[in-house]
Amino acid sequence: MKKRIAILGSTGSIGVNTLDVISGLGSRYVITALTADSSIRLLAHQARKYRPKIIFVGTELLAKKIKPLIPSGTEVVFGRDDLSRIVSRSDVDLVVFAISGSACLIPLVEAIRAGKAVALANKESLVSAGEIIMKLARKHNVKIIPVDSEHSAIFQCLNAIGKEFLTKIYLTGSGGPLLKVAKDKFDSLPRNFILKHPKWKMGKKISVDSATMMNKALEIIEAKHLFGMDDKSIEVLIHPEAIIHSMTEFKDGSVLAQLGTPDMRLPIQYALTYPDRAGGVVKRLDFSMVKALTFLKPDFRKFPCLGLARTAARRGGTSPAVLCASDEEAVKNYLEGRIRFSDIPKIIEKVLSRHAEITGPSLSDILKAERWAQEEARILCRR
Ligand code: NDP
Ligand code: MG
Repeated sequence: MKKRIAILGSTGSIGVNTLDVISGLGSRYVITALTADSSIRLLAHQARKYRPKIIFVGTELLAKKIKPLIPSGTEVVFGRDDLSRIVSRSDVDLVVFAISGSACLIPLVEAIRAGKAVALANKESLVSAGEIIMKLARKHNVKIIPVDSEHSAIFQCLNAIGKEFLTKIYLTGSGGPLLKVAKDKFDSLPRNFILKHPKWKMGKKISVDSATMMNKALEIIEAKHLFGMDDKSIEVLIHPEAIIHSMTEFKDGSVLAQLGTPDMRLPIQYALTYPDRAGGVVKRLDFSMVKALTFLKPDFRKFPCLGLARTAARRGGTSPAVLCASDEEAVKNYLEGRIRFSDIPKIIEKVLSRHAEITGPSLSDILKAERWAQEEARILCRR
């Protein structure tokens, strides 16, 4: 039986890599749906190549523009609710969530409610609403397969030794483009330096998050929910070679790690083939070329986002959603040239300090907190 796939965010870095992996896997997979926000040229090209039944774009105007560029048998939709309808279709078995930011949350919830298999790259949804998502997944018997490389690594280790023996997670990260740059130089660096990650080629939002280390910070909360761990048992380790993608320590002190060339196509492929494995497109690791594997502790003073995430994780409730939404807005304003790089953590900290959190929030509390935080951050960015 072929696996029928919907890729939300097919025009982004993860989306394009997912299509590449599927091409390499051959005829066992069929693409039912592809979605983009505004990249209609690339989406049209993907539609001609993969012949999905349905595609989604962000606006009615874009839907009109793309129509003549795609096969006549492909339907085009554009309303926000249409993303939720796509993930619930009866001809979709697995949904890849590769949309960046908060737009992923509602379709993810709908996919889980519809009992679809979930390959989750988007981390913001889990950070904002992890408890609700994990509870819903348990209720609908849905396995969330992480695509984020660290979480895929942990997930793979836990397939070897049961979670009941897990005592600690080492979340590794390369350190990003600013690892060796002094803090007082951050604001003088051009945006393309910040966006150029030394090990991974990714979308703009996550690239800025990697530079502030907010990416690793969000990953602590992501891991906390995915693996049911207290955030005190999750340690961030800087590992510049990016060969070890994360490690798990068990009750008896034994540590398991997952290694591989830094290529997102590997965790993407595992999420698609899970629990099986397949040959694929990813280059093998050549250990004779790996000179050393080094580790250091992260610098919380240089990268305050790490501490902000710890605070938000401990406060719980709507705080992680506020962390996420204020970061998204601050990053957007940084990319648009409105604020300096060093303003990003300051804005998030201010918004978090003004937030009166709600404990045990509902989904609508979370959405409301996100909108509030986005607006607060927007006002601060315009000052
Ligand atoms: P990109 O910015 O490259 O791509 C984002 C995709 O989402 C694009 O297809 C974009 O469409 C679409 N999109 C953006 N906003 C909206 C919206 N409001 N509504 C509908 N679609 C939207 O991001 P990445 O691929 O880098 O990252 C995707 C997610 O995966 C993020 O949450 C990130 O944290 C996570 N992730 C990414 C990794 C990576 O290597 N890139 C690694 C680990 C996790 P359009 O092209 O039209 O703008
Ligand atoms: Mg990651």
